[in-house]
Amino acid sequence: MNPIGIMSAMPEEAELIRREMKETKIVQVGKRQFVEGTFQGVPVVFCPAGIGKVSAAVTATLLIDKFNVGEIVFTGVAGGGSQTAVGDIVVGGIYLQHDLDLQPIFPQFYIYSLDTQILYADKDRVSKMMSAANRFLTAGFSFRNVDTFKPKVHNGIILTGDQFIHSQSRRRQISDQTKKVLLSDFHAMEMEGAAVAQVCHEMSTPFIVVRSISDKADQKANIDFPVFINQVARHYSLGILTEYFREIKRAE
Ligand code: SAH
Repeated sequence: MNPIGIMSAMPEEAELIRREMKETKIVQVGKRQFVEGTFQGVPVVFCPAGIGKVSAAVTATLLIDKFNVGEIVFTGVAGGGSQTAVGDIVVGGIYLQHDLDLQPIFPQFYIYSLDTQILYADKDRVSKMMSAANRFLTAGFSFRNVDTFKPKVHNGIILTGDQFIHSQSRRRQISDQTKKVLLSDFHAMEMEGAAVAQVCHEMSTPFIVVRSISDKADQKANIDFPVFINQVARHYSLGILTEYFREIKRAE
């Protein structure tokens, strides 16, 4: 079995997963550290990619081409859309790069190399990750000082672009533009997911992105975001991926 690639943007988002890995060996490639080992008994290669589309794309490419991963799982935080609340979990079924614009030559969001605008994760992985997230939430958890209500799991739309969105007006503008193509509002807005999706489509490698909503991409985003990362996100990442990998182990 090929190892599974685990990615995050910032190391904090997947720090607890890294700590749970066994038989680890660090391989440095350029500025990036890849950690080979096992997680829940499954062979994995973990790498915190850094923030943004280029960082995500180079890391995904290396995981596939140099480390021969058979699948990539990305975990981290995101800004939420109108249908999501802080603390919810979004499993990416649909991916769009909201800052990709070749107009007027091609339609907005058009990916030239793949001749499409929208990318999808395969249904099997989406449903496996949905069940993992639901099992994690059902098991129950509590976090000090964080007002986490009744979190929901969404099979949703992930928008990706090289911008931290922190104003109501920019968020609305992106929502309005992408709705024309997606016919629905987004669930999560972040900076890496659709880049990983593009690389994985080009390399015929399955992938899935799971995000916990850390902020609402509005003027409070820069206040909500660090609190959420430190107190909640890493526990979500560990809990959800533990369930996901247990399932893979059982299916072996
Ligand atoms: N101001 C932050 C910058 C982090 S960028 C800081 O000081 O650390 C935000 C990271 O979390 C990215 O990796 C992105 O994928 C995700 N993210 C969370 N909320 C986001 C938002 N509102 N807009 C864009 N990306 C967001």
